[in-house]
Amino acid sequence: MERKTCEECAGKIVKKKVDYHFLGENLGKFPAEVCTQCSEQVFEEDVTKKIAAISKQKGLWGLNDRARVNQIGGSVGITINKKIAQFLSLKKGEEVILYHENKKRLIIQIP
Ligand SMILES: [Zn+2]
Repeated sequence: MERKTCEECAGKIVKKKVDYHFLGENLGKFPAEVCTQCSEQVFEEDVTKKIAAISKQKGLWGLNDRARVNQIGGSVGITINKKIAQFLSLKKGEEVILYHENKKRLIIQIP
């Protein structure tokens, strides 16, 4: 189904190729319907599948991971798996900044 106006802001929709960024990497240009007003981008299903396939090829897929909390002395530690650590270029001894957004979300910022 082709959209003429944006569902978010009722702006005009144009078809164009846009760069797709996933986890900070540019996966290439893909056809999308883009709102000229709020820049909202919508990809068709086959394009979404193609993007998923490319991100899998690049090893960016499935980086979301569950981790268990361990007791380390009086503190607790969370193990970050090898894939994510490599992707983020995290090395032993490196300092990161932790901040909690709310009671359910902890952000790890790499300076
Ligand atoms: Zn819009």
